[in-house]
Amino acid sequence: MSRKPSPVPAARPVYSFVIPLFNEEAVLPILLHRMDRLLEKLDGPAEVIFVDDGSKDTCGIVAAGRAKDDPRYRYIALSRNFGHQIAITAGMDAAVGDAVIIMDADLQDPPEVCLDLIDRWKDGYEIVYAQRLSRKGETALKLWTAKMFYRALRKLTAVDIPQNVGDFRLVDRRALDAFRAMPERDRFVRGMFGWMGFRQTAVPFHRLARAAGETKYGWKKMLRLALDGIVGFSDLPLRVALWMGVAVSFAALGYGAFVLALALFGSGTGLASGWASMIVVLSLIGGMNLIMTGVVGLYVGRIHNEVKQRPLYVVGRTEGFQHAAAVPEVGITGRGRIPVTDRRKIAS
Ligand code: UDP
Ligand code: MG
Repeated sequence: MSRKPSPVPAARPVYSFVIPLFNEEAVLPILLHRMDRLLEKLDGPAEVIFVDDGSKDTCGIVAAGRAKDDPRYRYIALSRNFGHQIAITAGMDAAVGDAVIIMDADLQDPPEVCLDLIDRWKDGYEIVYAQRLSRKGETALKLWTAKMFYRALRKLTAVDIPQNVGDFRLVDRRALDAFRAMPERDRFVRGMFGWMGFRQTAVPFHRLARAAGETKYGWKKMLRLALDGIVGFSDLPLRVALWMGVAVSFAALGYGAFVLALALFGSGTGLASGWASMIVVLSLIGGMNLIMTGVVGLYVGRIHNEVKQRPLYVVGRTEGFQHAAAVPEVGITGRGRIPVTDRRKIAS
């Protein structure tokens, strides 16, 4: 970290990079080096915003140090781990550039691809997303579950959510303003950008393996993201619950009529021997009931989350914003004003 800081950019940044960090100490030195090289190639002033999502390792110290020394870098530490989707939202709230690029810290999204994203932005596209042609370093199971999830999502939702696309993308200021007007708590960012329309295009790229460290997206976080995607963008599960209930009720009515007919006109015997089938039918209906209650519960849980009206995130501390030409409105998304413990520092 002995490099000399470059001169303070007098102009407001044209490009803002938003990079979430969660225990990324292994990869951060390589990332900083690659970002330095990328920034030199850009045709306008840029800022790099690191959002520390409650890291427990030393990556926050390194990132904050860089933000202190180098006017192109900024550091926001959230007060705890809020999750990747919230972390990038916090970064986008603080970004002041005309074009905002969201990318992962682990260099699976190669910084050089950003130059292609910028080219397409200059062609007039408001949202330029990077589309994965291949994915290295992922288990076969992850690739398969991801494929199945996106296929299901496509069938379930009316929103156009492109295939093989993560959150690596460039967003124009206009699209970013639209995004910031969406205050939902359970966020599926790629779906939110799909929803808003605008002129969108893809830049294909080969997704590499992680440069260092391990994935921070465990199965729990992945499942939560998948549920947020489906529940946030489709009410089909609720309608399926309704129609399954209707179908089962009709089947029960039909069977009731059959039993009645048997009792009245048939031999009337043999019914008592149906104990095993009765247990099967009862437990099947019981199970279905529980599943459907759970489905409804997912939606009710989201309503609960919204009515609490809590802020999306809480900022613990910031570094490097004193160099910014414009004061970023850190922590404000949609309706909620977020308590920033050190607002004076940001405004200075
Ligand atoms: N990340 C985060 N908060 C989390 C989990 C992940 O900010 O709770 C960040 C992480 O540091 C990385 C990005 O999100 O910059 C993507 O995470 P990761 O590379 O572990 O996910 P994967 O590529 O394995 O799906
Ligand atoms: Mg990764």
